[in-house]
Amino acid sequence: MRDVDQNSAEVSPYECFACGNVVLAENAPDRCPDCAGQMRNRRTPIE
Ligand SMILES: [Zn+2]
Repeated sequence: MRDVDQNSAEVSPYECFACGNVVLAENAPDRCPDCAGQMRNRRTPIE
């Protein structure tokens, strides 16, 4: 097996605006898998 760079992609929690569903993903999902609503990164504070 070759070494894989595990640090290149960090999993972050993304929360659906519409239904509050939380998805763990490396990249921001386009749509909520439950309701197709907009997702936001929970680690990013909203001003
Ligand atoms: Zn949703």
